[in-house]
Amino acid sequence: MPELNFTDLSSEKLSLPLFIEKEISVDVLRLDRIHPYISGNKWFKLRYYLEEAKKAGKTSIVTYGGAWSNHLLATAAACKMNDLDSVGIIRGEKSGTLSPILLKAKELGMRFVFISREEYRRKIIPHALNTDEHFLVDEGGYGYPGAKGAATILEYCQKETYTHIGCAAGTGTTMAGLISNASPSTRVMGISVLKNNVELEEKVKALLPDSKWNYQFIHDYHFGGYAKYKPELIEFMNEFYRQTNIPTDFVYTGKLFFAVMDLIRDNFFNPYAKLLIVHSGGLHGNTSLSKGTLIF
Ligand SMILES: *Cc1c(COP(=O)(O)O)cnc(C)c1O
Repeated sequence: MPELNFTDLSSEKLSLPLFIEKEISVDVLRLDRIHPYISGNKWFKLRYYLEEAKKAGKTSIVTYGGAWSNHLLATAAACKMNDLDSVGIIRGEKSGTLSPILLKAKELGMRFVFISREEYRRKIIPHALNTDEHFLVDEGGYGYPGAKGAATILEYCQKETYTHIGCAAGTGTTMAGLISNASPSTRVMGISVLKNNVELEEKVKALLPDSKWNYQFIHDYHFGGYAKYKPELIEFMNEFYRQTNIPTDFVYTGKLFFAVMDLIRDNFFNPYAKLLIVHSGGLHGNTSLSKGTLIF
């Protein structure tokens, strides 16, 4: 398995005609370059959980996810690197074939336990996993240690220089981490990738200690819901790649960049705004699209 690589993360300046026209500057923090499986924000969210688990002498990490979970894949890979066992509690009965993400996680040594949607919703831990050797991590790495890890993402850029930081938001753990470590004058924008995710705002707030924070949610770019997409999104991802050489994924970062471009076009940002967009990785998820859909 490849090593983690933190050397080419530095923020990359995009120069597109639209940005010149609107007098806006846009940098991209390329977390997608860290690792093919522990990609983007996932290592940052996992780092303190891994540390805690090892310190507590646990031999295994147990966590939750669905068929599209980059978090499960990242956990599987990170555990393999750290000589820990990994178990994924999967929402839904086992179907005939595993998704490409789950197949890869399995190949990296993750064991799966399938539970019903109802049990999953109630976060019921199967009996056999409720023992001392297992360390439990919530779905998507949600929780204080996850956000504390995500806060360290900003060590890889000059955070004071930005008026806005944009990220894709699923559980909101990454967004909460970015908010907690951004300069007070920088607004963190979370682009929700789920439809009607009213819980997201509460979940982010719950991870931030009481104080004044500068952030905003955008709920209009889910394209029908989690892991749903429309031809328009795929066309955008291909065109964005042609113009910038930056690959995106259809579950998170495609929607993020689509939203940013659309907001810029609509004059959402004032002239001289300086944006940092966090490319949170997730490119492995594109393997579930049929061949030829994307040009990269
Ligand atoms: C998991 C993931 C996210 C969402 O992160 P949260 O901390 O759950 O909001 C965003 N982008 C990519 C590529 C992801 O894999």
